Amino acid sequence: MSAPLLQVENLVKHFPVHRGLFGRRAGAVRAVDGISFDLAAGETLALVGESGCGKSTAGRLVLRLIEPTSGAVRFDGQDLYALDDGAMRARRSALQIIFQDPYGSLNPRMTVGQMLTEPLALHGLALGRRKERVAELLGLVGLAPGHAQRYPHEFSGGQRQRIGIARALAVEPRLIVCDEPVSALDVSIQAQVVNLLQDLQQRLGLAYIFIAHDLAVVKHIAARVAVMYLGRIVELANKRELFARPRHPYTQALMSAIPVPEPDPGETRRRRRIILQGDVPSPIDPPSGCGFRTRCPYARPRCAAAAPPLDAVNGHAVACHFWQEIGAAADAVPGVTETPVNARLARLQAFFRPTTT
Ligand code: SF4
Repeated sequence: MSAPLLQVENLVKHFPVHRGLFGRRAGAVRAVDGISFDLAAGETLALVGESGCGKSTAGRLVLRLIEPTSGAVRFDGQDLYALDDGAMRARRSALQIIFQDPYGSLNPRMTVGQMLTEPLALHGLALGRRKERVAELLGLVGLAPGHAQRYPHEFSGGQRQRIGIARALAVEPRLIVCDEPVSALDVSIQAQVVNLLQDLQQRLGLAYIFIAHDLAVVKHIAARVAVMYLGRIVELANKRELFARPRHPYTQALMSAIPVPEPDPGETRRRRRIILQGDVPSPIDPPSGCGFRTRCPYARPRCAAAAPPLDAVNGHAVACHFWQEIGAAADAVPGVTETPVNARLARLQAFFRPTTT
């Protein structure tokens, strides 16, 4: 088996919190608290979780847009944090990002052509080749060469996201962090953008880290899914396995909360909504032991004493002291962990092409 394209090892990012007249350090926001995963070339790994769980910070750390507190990120075998500025600049073209808000990430005073030419110039593409390459990039994302003359405000939200994707593709990346790339778009447009990302992946061999909170979209695009809570990965598995048998109580609650806008009586009977009590604890002062214990319906004294490691069995990793017992109990009660394709997913899949994985 070939080495992974990306290896993330025990990555930590704590943002210091300063208080008082003299700005004394009063603690730290534990945004990312020791996560590890890898990613193969051409693969999609989804990072999911509630807002504030650290998934976007993790994406920025992987691209070295921010520096870590500790840990390592190896891209193509090279430790990104060991590179000096010049070497990192040279590496940067292989590592790109697509943002949630395409309008906010595009310069309103530049035409699309100018925006796409900028990275080409930085990449050292000959002047005479740039116009042709801009037309190629627009074609790749389903836009016309004539769109190069227009400004961002002249496009719809979906078209602006296509421009953001074209800009990321300009420098021929191998890994793209897609940071909630469709969450601001209508469902029908979401499907078009997700289909486009899949087409580009197949044509160009791209690897994606797909950051999202919408599990229906994740179920369509990801090969593997990592669920994050309070800066840690609590479950990581192949998509099919995770959706069929979520083992961590937090994942089970997330799965049970996938909205069903047009209730199917049969499905309503099969699914049991798990309502979590309380709020997500502050990442400045997380609970001792398991970070999920203040909301977990299965918490016991051991959960406060020690943080559960991310244990893997047959590639399905879970951070819970009692996941085997909880999983066995859930399997014995039909519907507790059963997460059938629900009405929302069915509605999305009316727009999506059938999945092949
Ligand atoms: Fe719940 Fe304890 Fe498992 Fe944490 S370790 S998820 S608190 S049962």
